[in-house]
Amino acid sequence: MHNDEMNNTLEENNSKSCIDRRKRINRIKTALIIGFIIFMLIPIIFCIILGLKINRLQNQVDLLISIHSQYDLAEEKAESNLAYAAVKEEPTDASTDAFEQENDNDNESENDIDNGNEASDSRDQEPSDQSENSEQEASESTKDDPMDQETKESEAKGTDRPHTGKYEGKKVYLTFDDGPSIYTDDILDILKKYNVKATFFVVGKTDDYSKKMYQRIVDEGHTLGMHSYSHVYSKIYNSVEDFEKDFTKLSKLLYDTTGYKPTIFRFPGGSDNLVNKHGMEDFIRYLNKKGIVYFDWNVLNGDATGSEYTKKQLIDNVLSGVDTRNNSIVLMHDSQTKKATVESLPGLLTILESEGAQMLPIDQDVTPVQMIKADTIK
Ligand code: ZN
Repeated sequence: MHNDEMNNTLEENNSKSCIDRRKRINRIKTALIIGFIIFMLIPIIFCIILGLKINRLQNQVDLLISIHSQYDLAEEKAESNLAYAAVKEEPTDASTDAFEQENDNDNESENDIDNGNEASDSRDQEPSDQSENSEQEASESTKDDPMDQETKESEAKGTDRPHTGKYEGKKVYLTFDDGPSIYTDDILDILKKYNVKATFFVVGKTDDYSKKMYQRIVDEGHTLGMHSYSHVYSKIYNSVEDFEKDFTKLSKLLYDTTGYKPTIFRFPGGSDNLVNKHGMEDFIRYLNKKGIVYFDWNVLNGDATGSEYTKKQLIDNVLSGVDTRNNSIVLMHDSQTKKATVESLPGLLTILESEGAQMLPIDQDVTPVQMIKADTIK
């Protein structure tokens, strides 16, 4: 009996501990499964969080890259190859030429130098133009060589002249619109002869000659400005989109041709033209946004009026404008129908030079003449 009881108790205990163990094992199993799930979940959650963060960072990097590339473009535009008086002349070649020319013209020039003012009789004037020019070039080029006697003489003449000139201290910015034309080469030759730099507001032309002219303009240190690609009012002033298209086309053509990016512009018809019934504000705003400065004019030679002008009238028109102001931005035209303008140049340059006016290309320091001021358009 006693043994039976003991056996029973033992069995009970055994089965009890058996259940306990199973329970414990189950609990451990559950704990292991939960642990395993947590162990698996944490990296997954981490991966998701990291993925999101990477995505956000990638977006920020993309944004930075795009900002940076815009900045690069703007910087490139600002620093490299603006078409302001682009390339300096090589002084050695120029002075050799000037010397040769001076020697050739020596006798002539001494006789003719003082006739420089009577520019209107241009047939007689031609040789004197030349000698005046070579004298002037020589006086510039020989500054490097103080030992030369002739140099001193011409330098003395050169420094004498401004003191007596009635345009002493005046700045004259000659500008030529609408080129290149059949006369661009001639205009450039004349400017070269007089060692004068000017500004060309050009339109878009893709023939070989015109491209050569764009190149010559920058190579010889003139300022290359833009005057619209098509110059067709109804096209460019139709909408800002059309204006932008035309602007971009010309800018690209000039950059592809010369490697220079013009930053100055002249509106066909000027900034207050009445062509566009909606006004010019949108176009001015567009240029302002692009950092392009537009120039109107305050002196004109009158070659745009269509009437027949003589050389003398064209010259007188300019001189009467230059008379009354210190900074003259002179509007002239470089186009197939403006032969008289080309012919008037030697006389005009002679007078301006001999009367002490400084003839300069437009650059970033020149205060623009604007009929509608750019800063009034917000
Ligand atoms: Zn024009």
